Amino acid sequence: MNRIGWSFLVRDCFLLLLLAVTPALAPADETAPARDPKQPINEGYTAKIKKYTTAPYFSSPLVDYLPASKNVPAPDAVLGDVAGAPGILPYAEDVYKYMRLLEKASPRVKVYSIGTTEEGREMIAVAVSSEENLKHLDENRARLAKLADPRTIKLDDAEADRLVSQATPIYYITGTIHSPETGAPTALMELAYRLAVDESPYIREIRDGVITLITPVVEVDGRDRMVDIYRWHLAHPKEFYPPLIYWGKYVAHDNNRDAMGVTLKLTENVLNTYVGWKAQVLHDLHESVPYLYDNTAGDGPFNAWVDPILTDEWEMIGWRNVADMTKFGMPGVFTHGVFDTWSPGYLMFIAAMHNGISRLYETFGNGGADTEERTLDPADYSRTWWRQNPPFPKTLWSQRDNNNYEQTGLLTSLHFFNENKRLLLKNFYLKSKRSISKPTEEGPAAYVLPGDDPRLELQTELLQVLQRQHVEISRATLPFTVAFPPKKAKKSSKKEDAKDAKEKEKDAEPATREFPAGSFVIRMDQPYSRIADALLDHQYWSPDDPQKTPYDDTGWTFGELFNVKVFRVTDPKVLEAAMERVNEVKPVGGVQGEGSIFAINNNAEPGLATLRYKLRDASMEAAEEPFEAGGKKFNRGSLIVRRVGRSDFDRAANEAGLHAIALSAAPSVKTHPMRAARVALVHTWLSTQTEGWWRLAIDNLKIPYDYISTQTVGRNDDLNAKYDVILFPPVGFNSSSTTIINGTATGWGNPLPWKNTPETPNLVGKNDSTDDMRPGLGWEGVAHLQSFVAKGGVLVTATDTSRFALSIGLADSVSVGTAQKMNIVGSVVSARLVDAASPIAYGYDEKLSVYCDNGPIFSLSSIAGGRGFRRLGGHSTSRPTGRGTVDDPDFAVGRPGAEAPEEPTSELWEYPPVSDEQKRNGYRVIPPATRARVILRYADSKDLLISGLVEGGDEIAQHPAVLDVPAGKGHVVLFSINPVYRGETRGTYSLVLNTILNFDSLDAGRKLAEK
Ligand SMILES: [Zn+2]
Repeated sequence: MNRIGWSFLVRDCFLLLLLAVTPALAPADETAPARDPKQPINEGYTAKIKKYTTAPYFSSPLVDYLPASKNVPAPDAVLGDVAGAPGILPYAEDVYKYMRLLEKASPRVKVYSIGTTEEGREMIAVAVSSEENLKHLDENRARLAKLADPRTIKLDDAEADRLVSQATPIYYITGTIHSPETGAPTALMELAYRLAVDESPYIREIRDGVITLITPVVEVDGRDRMVDIYRWHLAHPKEFYPPLIYWGKYVAHDNNRDAMGVTLKLTENVLNTYVGWKAQVLHDLHESVPYLYDNTAGDGPFNAWVDPILTDEWEMIGWRNVADMTKFGMPGVFTHGVFDTWSPGYLMFIAAMHNGISRLYETFGNGGADTEERTLDPADYSRTWWRQNPPFPKTLWSQRDNNNYEQTGLLTSLHFFNENKRLLLKNFYLKSKRSISKPTEEGPAAYVLPGDDPRLELQTELLQVLQRQHVEISRATLPFTVAFPPKKAKKSSKKEDAKDAKEKEKDAEPATREFPAGSFVIRMDQPYSRIADALLDHQYWSPDDPQKTPYDDTGWTFGELFNVKVFRVTDPKVLEAAMERVNEVKPVGGVQGEGSIFAINNNAEPGLATLRYKLRDASMEAAEEPFEAGGKKFNRGSLIVRRVGRSDFDRAANEAGLHAIALSAAPSVKTHPMRAARVALVHTWLSTQTEGWWRLAIDNLKIPYDYISTQTVGRNDDLNAKYDVILFPPVGFNSSSTTIINGTATGWGNPLPWKNTPETPNLVGKNDSTDDMRPGLGWEGVAHLQSFVAKGGVLVTATDTSRFALSIGLADSVSVGTAQKMNIVGSVVSARLVDAASPIAYGYDEKLSVYCDNGPIFSLSSIAGGRGFRRLGGHSTSRPTGRGTVDDPDFAVGRPGAEAPEEPTSELWEYPPVSDEQKRNGYRVIPPATRARVILRYADSKDLLISGLVEGGDEIAQHPAVLDVPAGKGHVVLFSINPVYRGETRGTYSLVLNTILNFDSLDAGRKLAEK
């Protein structure tokens, strides 16, 4: 036994000795959760707690009193009443004011500013621990940093044990990411007070043993809007109040799906705080399930990239939490449930992907601070094996009840964490160490992003995501070669044809590949290899998985969705390549060569659109065919730029990450002008959840646009006077064509205003406003959209708004089929370019990976009114029963045979040829120029799946995925996929951007069918 081991033993023996002589002192793990009788209680506050708790069993010995303090103010100092009191919902500012009062009054509290939101509001983290711990934060952080990065201690377990015995763990709690879930801020104010003031042994142990870090409000912009709504409700108690349509500036509920892309400030700020503090736990508070659902121990399938040490921790902590609260007599506390643990997009998963422990509570909330009688769904109060003590069918529920549950759950968790902190800190070290050992264990050794990728701008964007995730990035200084293992031959009972066999032979050989200097290497021997691996790898969700209702997306492979080359390398030799660390990945671009005309190759990179709008006065043209100039090959759609100074152009190209070459003469190739279209982005008052991601993307690209509602469209009878392109992104929730047109019922009730008033100063921000959210687009709005397109406008729709566009007759030759068995749940699927000459396709290769979530199945018909006819895949090979062999013609006895005319055939992404019968008085035959132009189609069934779940994929395989429909003088561009989604699908952004940039030349390169 080594020295460190002995000291452990000696210390433990000493403790045992101490316990033996002081029998009154229970062992540490049995400290009673009860107040210190010697410490006076705050009588008034305690009485109010009792008053607002609707039943005694909705409380616990941890929170049914408040300890008194002479100098530290209780939450009522700011709230005017106790935490969780009816009618009180503080703004973030008031929560911060209280936390800073605590900081001033107690040496056990420190407040840190951790960044700002999109609308400029502050985010904070509050540290609560003993004076001693807070005095030595830096030394402690240095210890935790070594455990977090075991390379610093040469992976020495003994040194890790020494650090574990000295370190104080960090437990990070985050509240109110979901704005209508309102209880956490007051619960966390009171929790901070208790942790700072309470002298009971149970709380003291937490205070001395753990540093509790609290971000009381994660979605600060949304919180302030929610408080506005609640104040409006209090001021108009007899009226219905407006639903919270905006939370943050961009997205609502999806703010908890951003932990992969890290596109929102709140994600970035929490991630930096979590990683910066070297925290062990990230515990996120939600309110949508009675009474406390600890979804830490989720249902399957579990995320494949997390360490099994973590999944054990989930179970251990989750079930112990249930046990503790059940012993207090609190009903309705359970773990396990419908939540699967597959997607790493949730905020709490920042911890799971950075070697910590992710936790999440769903407590019960009333969406405000009213005390209300609530009737539960039978599914919520049934007794199951994992919920032996279920909630009651009917409950009088208060915000105080919610605060009792949240605080009791957190305090028992913190106490359990403290009791087991040596184990859990050691686990933290082991998970970090195992992340570093990835190349020699499960692999891969690295991911390589080649330096000669034609899409360096998108590559930079992908690397920047990894950098925001605190992943280390290296860059090869010399070329290097690695081996790829042979592909395992698929077992097949069918006879293979010769070509297949040859291909298989080729696959079975190991292949090598040389990567040029400048290639980026994501080494897997680093502490945060896990998140890089999870983002860059492929995902497979079996259609036979017992989990039939995936909780969120099933696939997300970032290289595919960014349209960037990413190689998964298992060959450990990759780690020996000459490389250097890259501290900051920045876009690189600019102009080379001499001349006043600039050419930029089109590789479908979003920066081209940024450049177009930035250099408004420059003349830009798009080449309609590929060409060569200055010794370089240029793709179709490449830009030829004139009338801009070299230095201005060089700077703009560099910022956009685009490489250009200067030419002395323009290449001789057919071009059309690429103008900066005037763009409107339309939203409904039903939901702004999904369009928010479009807004965020377009804002980041610095493309100006008007943000208008369907109501505005309904009022504007000349949309063409203001706009060239109208984007109508997916509505998401509540999105049938009828609701888009009719809105919410106005036949009863009161108007639901979304505007700033004295009660609601924060509601609008820089978003839209209305006197009444209920009216929809209306039939006038439908007519305005139809006329906008007829007069030459371009309307872009996706998923549900594509269905809407079809339902108002904007594309007569396209119909939507009904899926029978298809189940594609947020997956990455493969698509194929059909018409590379279309400007919408500029810069794309023949194959493209796209995001699909049970998208509409488009079918084409050359006959107007032929809607609803779904064509099935495959050809019928059978012949009717009769004479001869299968290939022979049949006969009819007593007459000469008649040769049947050959059935015309077409692919699923093509228009079926018009038959001779259909041409008879063919007034319904749609002329070729009026038919949709198919830009992109879904791949064949066998090639469809890239990542995630694809079940019944043959129903959508080969069907059109992106269509350009001429209508009058304008166009409707219909997407079955969602091209702009959660900051993850940057590779398909250019399908939309190309449409914008070529709005008045969409017919370029079009070849019409003969008939
Ligand atoms: Zn939630």
